[in-house]
Amino acid sequence: MALKDINLNDIKDTAKDVYGRVSEAVGETVERLKRKDILTAPFMVEMIRTASNMYDHGWDERNGGNISLMVDEAELTDYLDLNQVIREIPTGFDAPTLDGRYFLVTGTGKYFKNVKYAPDVNLGLIRIKDSGRTAELLWGYTDGGKFTSELPAHLMSHAARLEVNPENRVVMHCHPGNLLAMTYVHTLDEKAFTRTLWQMCTECIVVFPEGVNVLPWMLCGTNTIGEATAEKMKTARLVVWSQHGIYGAGKDLDETFGLIETAEKAAEIYMKIAHLPLLNTITDDEMWLLCDRFELTPREGYLSPRKA
Ligand SMILES: [Zn+2]
Repeated sequence: MALKDINLNDIKDTAKDVYGRVSEAVGETVERLKRKDILTAPFMVEMIRTASNMYDHGWDERNGGNISLMVDEAELTDYLDLNQVIREIPTGFDAPTLDGRYFLVTGTGKYFKNVKYAPDVNLGLIRIKDSGRTAELLWGYTDGGKFTSELPAHLMSHAARLEVNPENRVVMHCHPGNLLAMTYVHTLDEKAFTRTLWQMCTECIVVFPEGVNVLPWMLCGTNTIGEATAEKMKTARLVVWSQHGIYGAGKDLDETFGLIETAEKAAEIYMKIAHLPLLNTITDDEMWLLCDRFELTPREGYLSPRKA
């Protein structure tokens, strides 16, 4: 090609194009460098700590248990580009009130004991859209995995709890041994089940004055058990799944863990004494004293009326 054939305008356009692409790449790199490591985010640190703690308590054998933590957008912007969707995953159910909400969720088939060693494989950060039918993956599940098979129960429970308490952020499921054992030997009547737990430790009525709700054995991982759990979540933060485990909900991971921990301690006492002659208990009058002292209202009709 002769020098006279070179079109200066072409060179200018190419240079402009290259400049544009380089500055875009530099801009993206600067943005990426400015972003903080999500593994240092307080909500992530707390999630990893909680999953490990639950495993250490023996509540999450093998791939048992799952946690979903709702995260506010403002908590994420320092760590993630929220326009970068890694992939979309269908959920298989409706949750119309949760569109635009972000959840950090344990992965299906994943072991709680491994969360702290490989959080990006065992956890995923999703954003809900299409009336709950699609989850946009923004971080995690790096082995191609996806969220827990119990996502229906989690998201439907989030929706139910948010209506009762807009501060609710956590839904947690696990298999604590004594609560599970209790569902084999105790009536599943919710009032009787709650009253037994309240009688086992003085702090129980203070920690869960609304009591615990109980579902009979049902097939897990289905929308049916999700809907049933969410319905029960409207009146209590603890829902026992008979012969399976428990669901807890709360405003943060500590509160939810503490709820399950307290109910499990009460169930442990029950399993220690159920076969022995009962000589003492916490009476209803004593429980009323606790309600007065801590200014709380017990589930209506669960205590016998107060003596005048
Ligand atoms: Zn389970």
